[in-house]
Amino acid sequence: MIFSHTQISHYLRCPRSYRYRYLDGWQEKETRAAMAFGRSFERALAAYFSQEDCTAALFKEWGAYRNTPFEYKSGESWDRLVHQGVHLLERFAQDDRVKIDRPQQNLQVKMIRNLPGDNEFVAYIDALGELDGTPCLIDWKTATSRYPEEPEGMLSLDPQMICYSWISGIQDVALVVFVRKSVPEIQYLKTSITEEQRREYGRLVEMTVSQIESGQFPPHSGIRFPQSGCLSCSHLGLCLDSQELIAANLIRKPGASNLDWLDELVD
Ligand code: SF4
Repeated sequence: MIFSHTQISHYLRCPRSYRYRYLDGWQEKETRAAMAFGRSFERALAAYFSQEDCTAALFKEWGAYRNTPFEYKSGESWDRLVHQGVHLLERFAQDDRVKIDRPQQNLQVKMIRNLPGDNEFVAYIDALGELDGTPCLIDWKTATSRYPEEPEGMLSLDPQMICYSWISGIQDVALVVFVRKSVPEIQYLKTSITEEQRREYGRLVEMTVSQIESGQFPPHSGIRFPQSGCLSCSHLGLCLDSQELIAANLIRKPGASNLDWLDELVD
């Protein structure tokens, strides 16, 4: 089987939800505009590094969703998102802090690592380049609020950054966060992942894969109400046997498990 960070973190959040998603084929319907916009924005960034018209790329990519009946947050709309995206692209170009040499090879870089058994782990690294002149691995995020920077060192605990450092062997990692708010802001966050963290992540992956292979999928709702993870879980309708919630949130695609690692591309 092919595993990804998205799958491992899904299992760790709730093994029962993992079973619904990856074994039974219950996928969340794409109703949130933010996910589709994030993908469109990343394609515009790729155009920027390839010396193409990134604003035109954003309009083209996001334009494909113009009539999609997404759920927009209050105050958001298709036009507002594209407006924010253009501002962020302009700001990013003005800052000029990120360099990507040979973008064809160094954007969306696929990395594979063999796992015990016949398993593999795959990751797509957004970019390999330089931030402020320091070579590093870079992940892009679009968000509606700033990422927490306090207490200092928070980013070094981010499991996705640790995962990417583990699979690539690169210790210096950076998160570039495009914050969509009335005054657009870009955060450039840097950290180093230690060898010990990479080893621990590798052990966590092997342990999780072994639990998945032994068929352990207990419900794990996390902390009790009001912090229960069930409240934001797209599979809640299955656990409550509510046809209404299932119809509202899920779509069933059985037989697609061989391609589940593609989730990684949108994460
Ligand atoms: S509703 Fe709760 S127990 Fe059920 S799959 Fe989701 S997180 Fe797990």
